[in-house]
Amino acid sequence: MLQEWQARWKSSPNSRFLYGIFPEVNTRRCHRVFLINQILTTHGCFPVHQYRMFGKSSDCECGRDQGTVSHYVYGCQIYREVRQKYIPKNFFELGILELI
Ligand SMILES: [Zn+2]
Repeated sequence: MLQEWQARWKSSPNSRFLYGIFPEVNTRRCHRVFLINQILTTHGCFPVHQYRMFGKSSDCECGRDQGTVSHYVYGCQIYREVRQKYIPKNFFELGILELI
């Protein structure tokens, strides 16, 4: 069963962002933090996901870019203070697995 799951995970066109982080399936991996799961799956509150699911605007409320995970994590001016408060100073040197 695990091999079949791995084959499907490898060949699926879906969730390539998450596949880039976790290329190997694992029954023991579980993140129970709601916001981390939303970031890893790129689902939920992000405008690009809201656009895909409900046809809402995909633009960030700052008006500078689309509301992608990358935009919020790396560049949205609205969340600048949040990043300064919660993201480590060496953030850009860390991989995403070191952040979760
Ligand atoms: Zn923004």
